[in-house]
Amino acid sequence: MKINLLNYTLPKLEQFFVEIGEKKFRAKQVFRWLHVYGAANFSEMSDIAKSLRATLEEIATIEAPELVTEHISSDGTRKWVLSVSGGNKIEAVFIPEDGRGTLCVSSQVGCALECQFCSTGRQGFNRNLTSGEIVGQLWWANQRLGKDPKGEKLITNVVMMGMGEPLANYENVIDAMRIMLDDNAYNISKRKLTLSTSGVVTRLDWLAEDCPVALAISLHASNDEVRSQIIPLNKKYPIAELIAACKRYLLKSPKNYITFEYVMLKGVNDKLEHAEELVKLMRGVECKFNLIPFNPFPNSGYEATGWGQILKFQKILQNGGYITTVRKTRGDDIDAACGQLVGKVEDKTKRQEKWKNYIPIKEV
Ligand code: SAH
Ligand code: SF4
Repeated sequence: MKINLLNYTLPKLEQFFVEIGEKKFRAKQVFRWLHVYGAANFSEMSDIAKSLRATLEEIATIEAPELVTEHISSDGTRKWVLSVSGGNKIEAVFIPEDGRGTLCVSSQVGCALECQFCSTGRQGFNRNLTSGEIVGQLWWANQRLGKDPKGEKLITNVVMMGMGEPLANYENVIDAMRIMLDDNAYNISKRKLTLSTSGVVTRLDWLAEDCPVALAISLHASNDEVRSQIIPLNKKYPIAELIAACKRYLLKSPKNYITFEYVMLKGVNDKLEHAEELVKLMRGVECKFNLIPFNPFPNSGYEATGWGQILKFQKILQNGGYITTVRKTRGDDIDAACGQLVGKVEDKTKRQEKWKNYIPIKEV
């Protein structure tokens, strides 16, 4: 099988070149062709010797996910359904805003964590994406979007908030993020690359060491009772452990705060007493809150909190001293809003098996 060069960080590409008897410095040239210029074929690499191009043609490929459908929302948000090998479909979303463009990237086909309010979680898990499939979403989106009139790329920010739990696909996500950050590739700043996690505590410590980027935690509850009900992972890593990990992360983080995401679920986690509980809970943690209106999906069993209640909840957090924003729902006319990413997961039966592989569940 040919090797997909999009999988390799620069050090790994250098190692690969050495292994095939090529000069190490050639790797950087090829790496730049792939990621700075978005080369889709070896024939485009005009300053690379013909013999090397021929060798690469024989043993390697440049393989990004492929477009299945594109939806463009009235607010400019674009949702792409992309296919990856094995007949699986994932989704990437581009959100243009004044002065920046954010790409929301998937890390897995489905998700094993089964958060109750999330349509990805309800669908089950099929497999991890390779690093090439993860960074390939950025590679592909840059090609699709082209450049602005000044010749700049439109994507300035990346959020690991699409399908999947990024810390459950740790190595591939780290390699993909390293390529995104590399100044010989996409040169995204660490502050503009955000990883969102439901809180795989032990891996937050790894992330702080291996690739500290901006961090968003899907908190969604102010106490363990409610959190465990909607996020099963909380039974393994309860809130106190999560907060302790956040404090450790802040020592290495490129930003001096953590964003806590909080999906507002009517009658579940949206009472004013919950807001008051949060104010106390996060004392001493440098953080901001981002309240997310729930995006309903068929048979979710949850309802969105009314706007008035969201604003009251926000006020309590703000009065408690926390910067608190309410996320604008983007692209909901095309089902591109958070938790609405409905990629097609072919094999739902693998969920339990995979989940056990990376986080042994203790019966609780
Ligand atoms: N697995 C990671 C990243 C992907 S989910 C995580 O959980 O953080 C991205 C964000 O969308 C998370 O904050 C998640 O809780 C939120 N989300 C999931 N389902 C949602 C829904 N139906 N409405 C609004 N937000 C949702
Ligand atoms: Fe997975 Fe995140 Fe959805 Fe939970 S919210 S099921 S961790 S994608």
